[in-house]
Amino acid sequence: MPPAKSWRTYPQTYRLEAARCLDCGKIFFPPRLICSKCHGRRFERFNMKRTGKVLTHTIIRTPGDAFSGEAPFAVGVIEMDDGARLTTQIVDVPFEEIKIGLLVKLEFRRHYCEGADGIINYGHKAVPLRQ
Ligand SMILES: [Zn+2]
Repeated sequence: MPPAKSWRTYPQTYRLEAARCLDCGKIFFPPRLICSKCHGRRFERFNMKRTGKVLTHTIIRTPGDAFSGEAPFAVGVIEMDDGARLTTQIVDVPFEEIKIGLLVKLEFRRHYCEGADGIINYGHKAVPLRQ
């Protein structure tokens, strides 16, 4: 990812910053400029809670080049407690224990190395919430 694009995503990447439409309440992650529900343009930014649950999941066995050293790995759609949905890796759990409804929290982890210089990209991955 080019540095300028990477810098613009820092609030989402590092703080899970989302936007709530002030007209209808819909939450967007990443934040948007126009609400897809009511076309409103007024938003408030807030940091989402880091907890949610697995809505669906799959195992990636033949990933793209950036993730080729990590296969196989689990990816899921996570519904955050604040209502936003995001797609991320599910880690620190055997594949057979990943179920719909599994409670997870997002942890900041290394995602992949990019380019010949090995630029490391970071982001969030879902790990099971231990009771
Ligand atoms: Zn709205």
